Amino acid sequence: MKVRVDDRLCQGHAMCTLACPELFELSDEDGHAFVRQADVPPELAEKIEQAVRGCPEGAIQTY
Ligand code: SF4
Repeated sequence: MKVRVDDRLCQGHAMCTLACPELFELSDEDGHAFVRQADVPPELAEKIEQAVRGCPEGAIQTY
């Protein structure tokens, strides 16, 4: 599984960094989230699903 953040939708709520700090980080420049690596290790899959469900903007996609 891979994960990405749609920068057009992200509003910087930071919920994703709470759900999965291992992969999500907020940019110092615009405050939007980005992923440190697109490939999701199996042990982080549940955290990523929580991040997807918890994002108020629906900005996190898995594929
Ligand atoms: S929770 Fe969603 S809107 Fe908020 S920073 Fe993360 S990706 Fe962006």
